[in-house]
Formats: sequence, structure tokens, C-alpha cells
Amino acid sequence: MKNKLTFVFLIVPFLFISCRGKRNSFVSSDYLGTVCSVSTFDNYPQELFVQLDGLLKKIDSLFDVNNPGSEVSRINRFAGIEPVKVSREVFVVVDTAISVAQISDGAFDLTIGSAVDLWGINSRNYKVPGDEEVESVRFLVDFNQVEADRLKGTVFIKKEGMKIDLGGIAKGYAADCAAELLGTYKVKRAVLDFGGNIYLYGKKPDGSPWRTGIKNPLEKNQIAAVVDGKENISVVTSGGYERFFESDGTKYHHIIDPETCRPCENGVLSATAVGPSSIICDALSTAFFVGGESLAQKIIRTEAYRDYGYIIMTASENYRLDVCSENVMVSEN
Ligand code: AMP
Ligand code: MG
Repeated sequence: MKNKLTFVFLIVPFLFISCRGKRNSFVSSDYLGTVCSVSTFDNYPQELFVQLDGLLKKIDSLFDVNNPGSEVSRINRFAGIEPVKVSREVFVVVDTAISVAQISDGAFDLTIGSAVDLWGINSRNYKVPGDEEVESVRFLVDFNQVEADRLKGTVFIKKEGMKIDLGGIAKGYAADCAAELLGTYKVKRAVLDFGGNIYLYGKKPDGSPWRTGIKNPLEKNQIAAVVDGKENISVVTSGGYERFFESDGTKYHHIIDPETCRPCENGVLSATAVGPSSIICDALSTAFFVGGESLAQKIIRTEAYRDYGYIIMTASENYRLDVCSENVMVSEN
């Protein structure tokens, strides 16, 4: 991070413009615990934006662990009891989460729920638990205990008390679904930003690349690197600086190391995943944050993840990166 120049974020501002029953942007803070915005560059029928709202509302209602009526809460309630029949949406996300848990050797682990609860991360009742409490949840984190049956469309947590939490992957899934919806309305290009989970849909008309700035985690108003992507590219960052609390002068962030069930401390300050699918980038960014560069290298060298890349920033070094795709370039700012 040698040039600490400030950078003008090139993503269009999220204006809410309405024009004769047509609009070009959507902003909502009602879903997925964050601000979700979709900015198009032409005006489209109001109906598209109503559909987007409906889509996010549905995804939120399926995945919200704080809502006892959500499908994810139901899966958790039936842990150790019986498989739960789920919607296509929840099945896809659980199935993808299991694949990323496997390839990341559990750095991304969807069964992190009990540890997330203990630290009060999703309820925002943050607290530092005692050592015994932390020990007591460690045996409740193991993705091998989750079965997703494709034929039956069921999800089963085999161990009683274990909980899944899809907060590290659901925003990416929502972005992919929203992009698909844009396609059905023949939208040519758009910028989707779901709480920092960016999806750059389509191509820019002049053929120039989409540019996304990656923040310097130590100086949040500065951009340390720039990702240039030609077409349909997701850029997702997991950062310890995004959500954290302080207790007795120590900062605790929201990404948990499944091994220790404590906020992960490995020197990584932020991890960005880039690639064609937002659900994969979302899960990978969390995995890269926990597993660091060695894990990121291992994953992007495997066939299924060959179109993905990473940018990892640590306290001790300048950023480290490796981007395989021809669609993407990363430069230092
Ligand atoms: P992200 O900001 O996408 O990295 O996701 C962080 C969210 O994912 C947290 O708020 C938790 O809900 C959940 N989470 C935390 N640690 C992990 C982990 N190691 N694996 C999977 N999900 C996690
Ligand atoms: Mg994530």
C-alpha cells in the first residue's frame, strides 16, 4: 500500500430517480441487515423495482436467523431430530455453503451459528464470553454434520444443538438472484451493492472496465487497490473493520475462526474475493479472511474455482493478490 492516494469511487451514487412510471435505481435498508442498492443506467418499468423488493423480502424471510419463522431457524430447531424439507433457495445456499466449507477445510463453516450467538454477533448484543463458554460451543461447529439431500430437497443437522448461520453467504446469493431478475427485464448493465457485496452486471457501454476500489483497512477513507472487471463480475470484501465491538480496550470483529470459536486473529485485515458468481465470492471472502493467503492460493488453483481471485491485506505486508481470470485486473492505487 505504498501510494495512499484517495480515490474517487467510480460506482454511481445511489439516487432514487423516478420518471413517468420508470426508475433507474433501487435502495432498501429493510433486508439482510444491510443497505441493498441496485443502480441501472437507463429507466426501467416500476414493476422491476417492485419485483426486486419482493425478491429481497423473500430471501430475507428465508435466511434470517433472528426470525423464528425463517427456514434456517426451522432447520436449526430440528437439529438432531429430523431432516427439514426446504425451498429451492435455501437448498442452493446450504449446498453451496457445504462445498465452500469442504474446499476451505472449514475456514468457512456454515455451522458457526452457536459461536456467532455466543459473541452476540447477529443479535448485536455483543459480549465477550468466558473461556468455558467458548469451549462448550467448539464441538458444535463442524460442517460435516450437515446433510443436504438433493433428491429429497432436505437439510439435516445431525448434531443436537448445532446451528447453521448463512450470514457469510446469503448477500452474495441475493446479488446473483437480483442479477438474474435484471436479465429477465433485459437490463443491460447495473451496479448491485448489497452491504459491500458488489456485483457489476453486464458491460459498460464504452467498453471501459468497471472499477471498484478496495479500501485500505487501516485508513478507511483511502483506497489501496483497484479492481477492473470487464463484465459480470463480483467483488466481495470481508473485513475485520466492518463490524466490531470493543471491550476493555480490545476490538472483537464478526468473523469467527471455527477452530477456536473466537474472532479470528491471523494478521489478515481484509480479504477480497473476485469472480463471476457473487454467492461464491461471498463465501470465499469469509474463507480467505480466516485461512489467509495459503488457503486462497490452494482454492484458486483448483479447477472449480479457477475463475476466482483474491486480494488479501495484512498489517505486516502490502497487499497480496492473485487473480486468475482474464476478465479481471487488479492494480495498486
Ligand atoms: P462476511 O462479512 O461475508 O465475511 O460474513 C460474516 C458473517 O458470516 C458473520 O456475521 C457471521 O454471521 C458469519 N460468519 C462468521 N464467521 C464465519 C465463518 N468462519 N464461516 C462462515 N460464516 C461465518
Ligand atoms: Mg462472506
